[in-house]
Amino acid sequence: SGRVAGKAALITGAAGGLGEAMARMMAREGAKLALTDIDGDRVQALADSINADHPDTAFAYAHDVTDEGDWMRVVANSARDMGGISVLVNNAGIGGQLVFAEQDTLENWRKVQSVNLESVMLGCKHALPHLKAAPMASIINISSIAGLAAAPGMGAYNATKAAVWLYTKTVALECAKAGGTVRANSVHPVFIKTPILDPFIAMAGGQEDMAHEKLARGIPLKRIGEPDDVAYCVLYLASDESKFVTGAEFKIDGGLTA
Ligand code: NAD
Repeated sequence: SGRVAGKAALITGAAGGLGEAMARMMAREGAKLALTDIDGDRVQALADSINADHPDTAFAYAHDVTDEGDWMRVVANSARDMGGISVLVNNAGIGGQLVFAEQDTLENWRKVQSVNLESVMLGCKHALPHLKAAPMASIINISSIAGLAAAPGMGAYNATKAAVWLYTKTVALECAKAGGTVRANSVHPVFIKTPILDPFIAMAGGQEDMAHEKLARGIPLKRIGEPDDVAYCVLYLASDESKFVTGAEFKIDGGLTA
């Protein structure tokens, strides 16, 4: 334990799914946490649950990642409550509609872009002054395997996740130029068991096991992922163990794109 002791991590979209797994793992490994989500009640409940095991570790904030004013408030309050920010995990994201190009809508694109992509720019922009003030800091942007490989019906999601992949490298190079104390990397999970897979379960007539099995078919390791499969990678990137790693992408995909 203690792999991220002394770190102060802001995690967006932390109320459930991958964000919750990251938060629980980083709490066990000694970090302070600013947990944010558009669902303020759920993220407060998670912070309370973490604090029951690790007192004075987690703070919760209601936060719409598409809103710049929200970012300014949440970053200032997180830095005040944790005594700084040394890790930013841009995790909040939505799947958008499964729809082919001819049926797609501007409304779908704009929604997916604002939650998955503009949020990442706003988070980096407003957290960077605090990250630069830390001795060593890390930005971790949660993209997707869908940011590196296309899938029919996922145009808006593919485009935003690919943009997050390259934008992360831009930020990594800028931070390297500014002195190298802040690193930036992207993480690219394949299907992981979280509520974001609900549309696939609905397509399988509500049968969760059948849906998971179907999604696992193309994956060489013959299963879909668990939230901790991603959280372990995020833990490494948040810690100083990864201090020579920046501008890189990490595929958590069971061999899918090998
Ligand atoms: P999830 O739906 O469980 O979690 C997403 C969280 O983001 C939710 O708690 C939701 O309330 C929050 N959120 C949504 N819109 C928001 C907004 N405007 N402002 C703030 N918070 C908002 O899904 P997840 O699987 O845990 O997704 C986390 C990240 O992982 C996403 O970026 C997703 O694209 C990515 N991802 C997931 C998978 C997967 O299969 N689960 C695969 C690849 C990438």
